[in-house]
Parts: sequence; C-alpha cells; structure tokens
Amino acid sequence: MDNIIFLGTAGARFAVFRQIRASGGIWITLSDTQILLDPGPGALVKCLKNRSELDPTKLDGIILSHRHLDHSADINVMIEAMTQGGSKPHGVIFAPEDALEEDPVIFRYLRKYVKRIEILKEKGEYQLKNIKFNTPIRHQHSSETYGINFSGEKNTISYIADTKYFPKLESYYKGDTLIINVVRLEPSNIEHLCLQEAKRIILINKPKLAILSHFGLTMIKAKPWELAAKLQKETGVEVRAASDGMRIEL
Ligand SMILES: [Zn+2]
Repeated sequence: MDNIIFLGTAGARFAVFRQIRASGGIWITLSDTQILLDPGPGALVKCLKNRSELDPTKLDGIILSHRHLDHSADINVMIEAMTQGGSKPHGVIFAPEDALEEDPVIFRYLRKYVKRIEILKEKGEYQLKNIKFNTPIRHQHSSETYGINFSGEKNTISYIADTKYFPKLESYYKGDTLIINVVRLEPSNIEHLCLQEAKRIILINKPKLAILSHFGLTMIKAKPWELAAKLQKETGVEVRAASDGMRIEL
C-alpha cells in the first residue's frame, strides 16, 4: 500500500530547535519502495517508536532536499540505522552537491556503508527500486535545494521543499498528491513559502490532495488544521495540514 507518514511537521529555526513540533522528515512507501525524505532532528527516534512499520533497515534510500539541519541533522544516524552500523551495506543516498563537498553534512567515513550516493541536480532523473523521481528546478533558498516529483506504478507525489516563491514554481510539481512546505503565515523576506503562496499553487495545480507541512511558529499558532479547512473551501481541493505521526493512505 502506498502511503506517507509524517515523522515531523516543524519547519525552520524556532519550531524545530525548540521542538514545538517534531522534525523527523517524511517516510514514503511507494510501489513497495521505502524512502525517508529530509531526516531532521529526531528522525531515528520517531522511526523506532513505530518500529513494526518503520524499520530503518528496510529503507531503500534517503533523500535530502538540502543541507539545512532541520532537513539533514539525522542523516548520519539514519545511515547507521539503515545499514546496521555498516555491517549490512545497502541503500542509496541522494543529496545536493553542497551536502557532500566542503563542510559536508554526510560524514565521509559512513559513505562506504551505502550502495551508492547520487548527487541531486537541476533537471535530474533518478531511479530507486520500483520508483522514478526527478528534481526539476533549483529552488531559491540559501543552500542548494530541490523539490521532488515521485512516480510509482499507481501514484505520483510532488514535494515542494523550502523555497522563496518564484514565477511558475507550481508548474514543476504536478503530482496527484502535493506536499508543500509552508513555513510562514504571512509573506516575508525570508526564503520560504507563506500560506497565500501555497493557496496560489493549489489553485493553479488542482492536485487530488494538497498537504501543508514544515510549519514555522506563525503557522503553528494560527492552527494549521483550521487554515487547511479554509483553503479547502476556497480552492475546492482537498487540503490537509500535516500533524506529527499523521499517515496518509494513497
Ligand atoms: Zn531550509
């Protein structure tokens, strides 16, 4: 069964580093392929709380949309967990080049524990077990960042990772299920999407299901579930606000 499990829904500095909400990333099961996306602080703990289902040794791969710690802090512990301390090397890591080169967030001594490491690039096309995914455009964010379109046999999922809004952003992410990182309630100068921009993206793309996540403090205070219900009314699209541990069956 294809599904998405949110191991965390906090975004950016204050919500993550005070753990107002959890920040373990997103576990996607698509066409029998298990992927962990953006393992922020607490990813391993969140997996092990649900060990019968989220067994790190069963992961086929881990993807970093970018190197910021709210997306990558647990990447090294997840590599250890996935490979049982390197005793059972397997799995593939996907990350932008700046997560691997100077001042890397992925330790060099762990790299031999995985089957391979692939570098995410603009217009990149990748394959992992039974799924394909692509990274259509570099985002406008303070480190090299990509969103992702996943294609399984039955379902497609798009993930709009951290970015400042830019023209035609939505045109790159046409998955039936659309996950949007919405850090801010109101527009601001920081390089993140706000609620109004998420609404615009949903109105243009009309996905089957839109899921808002990666909330900063202003979003959390405004009760994301109420904001999602309002967006659903305004757009005619099913919109859900992710919560920690939430599971979506596709
Ligand atoms: Zn970021």
